Amino acid sequence: MERQRLAFREFGIPARIATFNSKESGDALIKEWTGRKNCYVSVYAFDEMKGKKGTNYDSAIIETIWFDFDDDENVTNCLEDVRKLYAEFCVPKNLTPRIYYTGGRGFQLNIDFPYLPLPTHIKRDAIRDFLTHLKTKYKLKTLDQKCINNSVVCLRRMVNTPYIDKKTNQKNGRYCIQLEVEEMLEYTMEEIEKLSEWPRTRSFNIDREKNEGAAKGLLQYVCNALKIKFTSTNTIPYLLDVINESDDSHKKYTKSRVTGFVYPVRPCIKKAIQRAIGKGTNDHTANTAIAAELINADWKDQDIAFVFSSIYEGESGNKWGWYKDNGEVGFQIKNLRAKAINRFSKNRLMQYKICRDKFCACGN
Ligand SMILES: [Zn+2]
Repeated sequence: MERQRLAFREFGIPARIATFNSKESGDALIKEWTGRKNCYVSVYAFDEMKGKKGTNYDSAIIETIWFDFDDDENVTNCLEDVRKLYAEFCVPKNLTPRIYYTGGRGFQLNIDFPYLPLPTHIKRDAIRDFLTHLKTKYKLKTLDQKCINNSVVCLRRMVNTPYIDKKTNQKNGRYCIQLEVEEMLEYTMEEIEKLSEWPRTRSFNIDREKNEGAAKGLLQYVCNALKIKFTSTNTIPYLLDVINESDDSHKKYTKSRVTGFVYPVRPCIKKAIQRAIGKGTNDHTANTAIAAELINADWKDQDIAFVFSSIYEGESGNKWGWYKDNGEVGFQIKNLRAKAINRFSKNRLMQYKICRDKFCACGN
């Protein structure tokens, strides 16, 4: 599964003052602020703005989960929690984490995996609940619940930028640095602090594909929450499909999208409508795709009813529920509205051959 759109990240000091979408523009921001302020970057990349007002956090691109460990009293407690998470969660699932010492009183850890197109209305809650579950299960006392609650909105320290003491506003002489797994396991806290006196320019390789178990764990957690049955051999695309199809997901996870955000109708959906009108009939899934699209494009009921009555020109609409003969919408549309259903993703459109062009604009 591939991502479709140009992604950007947020930059903070820690107030979110900018976004950037390339290494160069990110470096320019660091150059401007490093040493004066603590530099932060959003853990997730996004691919949608909410009008001109800022980031649409529901557009977060999920390809990692992130753990923020903090202890004001004793940073060694954080190191112990990182080791515990590694031993009890990562090792059994064969996951390789990306690990950082912040330069101050904490550690941060990512588990990266291939792009996971979680349904929009689920993302935020699913990640928050999954991390809370791991915090409880492995008794990770220093794992910061505030960061967990921020879910896809969280910011992290930027690697290789200096740590500024918030009270004195001075550098403490250490940098946020990345560590190898072996270093995290073997070094003492003093050795790690010593290491953080300089930025580290060496490269660290993480194989996302090998970390698929973390993405699967997240999906299995969501399935349990939704009481969906699955087996350990079920694949990620299968689990995504059953979650997508689940009616309960719309009851359990309420859409956090702010009303008023309108998606335009995509060209392949317009073509699908034209094709259906030409044929004088359509299948159920294609109708659902069209209806979900028009609802999310903020079309009025009577206009949606008109589209479907045009497809089934001359037929009574009462039976199938897309429109009524009096010009109102039928129960299918009402159900979709009640469930606050999302429009179909590019992947789903391609799966159902409504979109047939890998490079068309449906992902935009
Ligand atoms: Zn398309």
